[in-house]
Amino acid sequence: MAQKRDYYEVLGVGRNATADEIKKAYRQLAIKYHPDKNPNDASAEDKFKEGAEAYEVLSTPEKKARYDQYGHQAMGGGGGGGGMNMDDIFSQFGDIFSGGGFEGFFGGSGNRSGGGRGMRQGSNLRIKLKVTLEEAALGVEKKIKVKRNNSCKTCNGSGAKNSSAVQNCSNCNGSGQVRRVTNTILGQMMSTSTCPVCQGEGKIVKEKCTTCHGEGVTPEEEVISIKIPAGVADGMQLSMSGKGNMPPRGGMAGDLIIVIEEEEHESLKRDGSNIVFDLYISFVDAALGTSVEVPTIDGKVKIKIEPGTQSGKILRLKDKGVKDLNSYQKGDQLIYVNVWTPKVLTPLEKETLEKLRTAPNFQPNPGKGEKSFFEKVKEFF
Ligand SMILES: [Zn+2]
Ligand SMILES: [Zn+2]
Repeated sequence: MAQKRDYYEVLGVGRNATADEIKKAYRQLAIKYHPDKNPNDASAEDKFKEGAEAYEVLSTPEKKARYDQYGHQAMGGGGGGGGMNMDDIFSQFGDIFSGGGFEGFFGGSGNRSGGGRGMRQGSNLRIKLKVTLEEAALGVEKKIKVKRNNSCKTCNGSGAKNSSAVQNCSNCNGSGQVRRVTNTILGQMMSTSTCPVCQGEGKIVKEKCTTCHGEGVTPEEEVISIKIPAGVADGMQLSMSGKGNMPPRGGMAGDLIIVIEEEEHESLKRDGSNIVFDLYISFVDAALGTSVEVPTIDGKVKIKIEPGTQSGKILRLKDKGVKDLNSYQKGDQLIYVNVWTPKVLTPLEKETLEKLRTAPNFQPNPGKGEKSFFEKVKEFF
């Protein structure tokens, strides 16, 4: 057996790391090598197990103390939590993935197929969740009703009428797996496969529970509270572990995948982390100056329009945009000033304007100092 790596080295922390630092380091490692993100990758699975073993020791004070003093020899039986299987890891450390409920952004993660590992997981549930622009920008907590298969309350998920109605599978002695020895040119080879009699469950239900008809699960409506972090965007997926379907007759629930659908705002448009607003003012207001209220994602804001404002001017409201999902940075709100030209005029309005048609100050006179629209836009991006 290969020499074990130092547990601190495995987690990438110093010898005097705090419990919090150790937990954080393990969490990062576990997410990086999570089987959901690395399907069919044996080396990722090894790293995932190695990390769990290190964490198992370093997060248990007395094990850590022994390890600190004597190293791997102290852990007995050839090493620490030696050979933790995936089941152990998820049942012991599952909560490490769910800080606040989210596993993070494992886009479209499929089922963790238990195949051969003896771990059974229910199917994932996918729901679409509509959020307004304000909710996407500022974050929100939402309660949603989810219909999911949950453990049957009558039989506690066993699927059996009573405890004597469940028997260990005699074909595999309850292990769910059968070993087969085959002769090959290289000698005898042993292989294990899922027991065909119990389909890997290890148990046979003789008399079925009448509530769930032996399935061990019943459909249930559950109200789930979801924290949507500030900065999500249309199409993003959030995943909540353990809020999907329970598999029949025991195992762990799948995940709840939440797909964000951002609703269109009536007047504000999103451009990445910036918010864009088209402001229309009359040419009288543009000439004389005024103050107007504009909507932002967190309420109305009064802004000043200077006398002599030209159409195409862009005003910036700093930090009134969308917070970046992964940092504390915020976008801005950009206000495009459009000077409105009247399309219909009453005779009196016409007459008034006719008098101004030839007025000297009403003649366009951009001069050299005036920036082109192209320059104005460029300045802001
Ligand atoms: Zn039942
Ligand atoms: Zn069996």
